[in-house]
Amino acid sequence: MLHIIPYSDSDIHSTEGNLCRCNPTVEIIGVQTIIVHNSFDGREFQEEINSIINNEPYIKANDSFKERVN
Ligand SMILES: [Zn+2]
Repeated sequence: MLHIIPYSDSDIHSTEGNLCRCNPTVEIIGVQTIIVHNSFDGREFQEEINSIINNEPYIKANDSFKERVN
């Protein structure tokens, strides 16, 4: 199981299954289960706003996210 967790978030994410309070998205690719966590500090929303202002495509997986394998 692979967890994608926002870097330096304002609260702590649980990596026990997919039961985190951030309501993560679960994706299954082949035999790998990927848990994509949402940030507690709302950075996705801010990045989406910035991309709209700058007329750039919104990219969720950027430098503010890190991967952790359990
Ligand atoms: Zn989480």
